[in-house]
Amino acid sequence: MRVRFAPSPTGQLHIGGARTALFNWLAARGSGGRFVLRIEDTDRERSTPENVAHIIEALRWLELDWDEGPLSQTDNEERHRQVVERLLEEGRAYRTHATGEDVRAWKELHGAERGYRGTPEGSGAVRLHVPDEGATVVHDLIRGDTVFQHTHLDDPVIARADGSPLYNLAVAIDDHDAEITHVIRGEDHISNTPKQLLVLEAMGAPKPIFAHLPLLHGPDGKKLSKRHGAASVQDLRDAGYLPEAVRN
Ligand code: GLU
Repeated sequence: MRVRFAPSPTGQLHIGGARTALFNWLAARGSGGRFVLRIEDTDRERSTPENVAHIIEALRWLELDWDEGPLSQTDNEERHRQVVERLLEEGRAYRTHATGEDVRAWKELHGAERGYRGTPEGSGAVRLHVPDEGATVVHDLIRGDTVFQHTHLDDPVIARADGSPLYNLAVAIDDHDAEITHVIRGEDHISNTPKQLLVLEAMGAPKPIFAHLPLLHGPDGKKLSKRHGAASVQDLRDAGYLPEAVRN
């Protein structure tokens, strides 16, 4: 078993993220597997070295040790670009100038349920071809199988016009390259999963198994945040909690 924790360094380590890290750590240690730490720093405006340091410090304080990494997602950008080039050459992806306006016009014409299909043009952003037939099935250890009919899925944008990779492309490639067998993460990522599976399918790569964890909620049923008091590992630590208590 090879698992990963892939935080985005856009703030302190949220307690929900810490729980995701804990579940991955338990899965790795309980199976004699490997735990990979990957910093998802592709959002260059919001990712800071200070936040990377905070996250690493919080994981160390929680005594959740990793076996490989920290890898940086931006370090793999050349590889992401190569995959985009290959998918374009193989006709699995295409460039298009389509804007949000064009997508809306398509939906008006074909119905909101119909996934967007663009017209290949010489330049512009890169979209992945979603086949019209068939379906992508997400096998989830917690939620069971979810079937996404291809006809309902938009051709996802995987790279900008300058070739720089978008998030769902980068995640799929990085998980593949790190030979991740089980993706354990919060269920706020579930809508990304079919897109990532389609990228892997187009690459001819094997697919991991998923486990999407329910999010942590406050007593009001809303996603746990600062409004509920402590929301980050750092807050709890500052309030005097011990690592054992936070893990518990
Ligand atoms: N970077 C994402 C986050 O911090 C996690 C992505 C993933 O686990 O696939 O929410």
